[in-house]
Amino acid sequence: MTSSLTDTRPGSTSDGAPGQVRSIGHWLSGAEVRGRSGRTHPVTDPATGEVTGHVDLADPDEVDDVVNAAAAAGAAWGRLSLGRRTKVLFRFRELLESRAEEVAAVITAEHGKVLSDALGEVSRGLEVVEFACGLPHLLKGEANENVSTRVDIRSLRQPLGVVAVITPFNFPAMVPLWFVPVALAAGNAVILKPSERDPSASLLLARMWEEAGLPAGVLSVLNGDVTTVNALLDHPGVAAASFVGSTPVAKAVYERGTAAGKRVQALGGAKNHMVVLPDADLDLAADAAVNAGFGSAGERCMAISAVVAVGGVADALVDKIAERARGLRTGDGRRGCDMGPLVTAQHRDRVRGYVDAGEAAGARLVVDGRDPEVDGARDGFWLGPTLFDHVTPDMTIYTDEIFGPVLSVVRVESFDDALALVNANPYGNGTAIFTNDGGASRRYSEEVEVGMVGVNVPIPIPMAYYSFGGWKASLFGDSHAHGLDGFRFYTRTKVVTTRWLDPSHAGLDLGFPTTS
Ligand code: NAD
Repeated sequence: MTSSLTDTRPGSTSDGAPGQVRSIGHWLSGAEVRGRSGRTHPVTDPATGEVTGHVDLADPDEVDDVVNAAAAAGAAWGRLSLGRRTKVLFRFRELLESRAEEVAAVITAEHGKVLSDALGEVSRGLEVVEFACGLPHLLKGEANENVSTRVDIRSLRQPLGVVAVITPFNFPAMVPLWFVPVALAAGNAVILKPSERDPSASLLLARMWEEAGLPAGVLSVLNGDVTTVNALLDHPGVAAASFVGSTPVAKAVYERGTAAGKRVQALGGAKNHMVVLPDADLDLAADAAVNAGFGSAGERCMAISAVVAVGGVADALVDKIAERARGLRTGDGRRGCDMGPLVTAQHRDRVRGYVDAGEAAGARLVVDGRDPEVDGARDGFWLGPTLFDHVTPDMTIYTDEIFGPVLSVVRVESFDDALALVNANPYGNGTAIFTNDGGASRRYSEEVEVGMVGVNVPIPIPMAYYSFGGWKASLFGDSHAHGLDGFRFYTRTKVVTTRWLDPSHAGLDLGFPTTS
């Protein structure tokens, strides 16, 4: 670590008093420090529109220093006994649980989602930490004796070294927690590059890892943008990268990282369909569409953005969804509202543009969120719940991932039409079917080309001990996040073949070894 990276200018860290515009640095070698590039990105409170901080963006020379420091710290961590590594994870688990509300408050202040939702994301992240606490079991290899006479074989799972984790704005705590605990449990050093739009939750988590006893330098939080990400992907000292974000960036990250010889898993965007069959419980389906469509203002990769109404179900279903959507309270996430603002003014304007486009294209605007009544400051990045009916697959509100509180209803004639529509979509992250027909749900689960399926469950998010990931344009690479896939991704296997000689010597034999 160079001295300039560890220099901390007075008043320059993220511990600013409320109301102050903070300087947000990096977390390196166990302390928050300022970057030296001179480049920064504004961080806003989406519920007030105020700039609350400026986050440092790392340049390639800073990346180089951090990778070298991580490699040095990680080597000892990877050799630490499994018991001692487990204890650090347990202590982190205790800290995270006891300070979940503090983390949630930081999330809400920079992302905007309501506090209860922020707490929900912390608890999903906590489950991954709990899963990773089983590391001695999860890192077991395999063994056979006598694969040849008096020859034994065993496989080991060894850490990769330094791994990069690059995360999106929409889950500032949960997505880092999908990867960091598993990568650390497997014995790696981690460089986390959070979204520049809401970086503070990652810094708080790093502080807790430090308090939990993680040796300095094993986890770094390096804030940055595309320049930082590219430097991480090009750096020969980074062995692997886990990425979550939009599809075009996921694809670019996958291609650049693998071209540089790295292992890469890149989770991308989504367009999640919820199919409602005529025999479904329509109140259950309407509740689910509203919860999964407008929760976190639609800024979830598992948000439902297209409801596919089959047969004659649409009129009644649209009425029920509209009634519920109109009853939602939009406002400041700290005031007990149902739905918060969008993350930035630019993103709000982009989503608003889709609402204009949907109307112009001829979809029926049933609930218009463009001029919402809000419980919050005038300059927050507001957009209310919006519902379109009679959406057709050629409209941009259907083709594009909007990532906002805009729900589209597409009407189709039959189950087969619904299945064909979902399978024709380039994304394959999540989908749901609402029905009481076991045969229909079984066929849907079997034939749909999507990575995560819910049956009468709107957001089919796997548990920590199952892996999370989509298909098609929603995932580049082979490995999903956490679960067994996570441990496989962050380790490489080595096979060790051993012969201990009997008192009698084997003798010379230049023939090809056989298993006799
Ligand atoms: P994003 O792609 O803009 O950014 C993600 C990360 O990549 C950030 O850390 C950002 O700094 C970095 N980045 C941005 N542009 C880059 C570039 N050109 N090259 C390299 N790195 C770059 O995504 P976002 O807006 O922060 O997050 C929302 C997106 O993430 C949505 O598309 C959502 O569906 C997706 N997402 C997917 C999942 C999943 O599990 N599949 C989960 C959460 C979010």
